[in-house]
Amino acid sequence: MSSLKNLLTIDIEEWYNFIGDKGAPSFEEWSKCESRVEMLTEKILEILEGYSVTFFILGFIGRQHPQLVKRIHNAGHEIACHGEKHDFVFDLSRQQFREDISRAKKLLEDITGQPCLGYRAPAFSIKKSNLWALEIIREEGFLYDASIFPAVRTAGGGSTRFFKYPHILKLKAGNLVEFPVSSTRLFGVQTVFCGGGFFRFFPRSYIYRNIERINNKDKQPVVIYLHPRDIDPHQPRMKLKPMNRFLYYYGLKEGEAKFRHLVNRYKWWGMGDFAKPYIHGIKSDLPVKEIEKV
Ligand SMILES: [Zn+2]
Repeated sequence: MSSLKNLLTIDIEEWYNFIGDKGAPSFEEWSKCESRVEMLTEKILEILEGYSVTFFILGFIGRQHPQLVKRIHNAGHEIACHGEKHDFVFDLSRQQFREDISRAKKLLEDITGQPCLGYRAPAFSIKKSNLWALEIIREEGFLYDASIFPAVRTAGGGSTRFFKYPHILKLKAGNLVEFPVSSTRLFGVQTVFCGGGFFRFFPRSYIYRNIERINNKDKQPVVIYLHPRDIDPHQPRMKLKPMNRFLYYYGLKEGEAKFRHLVNRYKWWGMGDFAKPYIHGIKSDLPVKEIEKV
């Protein structure tokens, strides 16, 4: 077990907000799909009762369900930004990316009346080739980022050369606190072990062993991400490619019980609360990295 507080993040999107597979509905079709996000988020809020963690909310969801953003905020959680339309960042021009994140940030801030400090890219789609996005994230007023996937490449992003633990990125626009997703080595391959499909795929014992190794041996917090759909065995099924179908639908039945158990086993907090002392210069014990060497 461990006494360190770990970082729990929930990416608020619908079951159909999937990118990189033609079997998923297009943006134009989204508004015709059944909405399950409010019902599932209620369940997540109930499981997280007593904790304050970070919710990365898609602008599209915030526009359709402003009351859901208020509900999460009023339950004591941090509202952070997952962009507007859930496109891969590397498919956007710099201008399109800037517009996407600033639109979603403004929407979320208008709903809560609070500054939105953090950003996470859809599918962690910031990789070595589009690190310019981090500079734009900082320029648009975000003070921390959680888009780095320091493991083998997925459809979205990923690189084993990324630094694995929370650090400060020194950018031209200023400092950005960076929270890479936690990863581990399995058969010589660096992999994420506790987020989305990886969380549903790996057995509890394996996940716990890795959390405790990172907490107790490396003295680092674990960064975990989950979506409402990860605890929803009744979501409509899309005709995805076989590999995506496996990653998307494996282990849904046990998702909720597994999530409850995980939440009850460790201590949690949000990224904003972790980052603020570094943003305000009260703490300075995080490693500092240059953008060329993340
Ligand atoms: Zn997402």
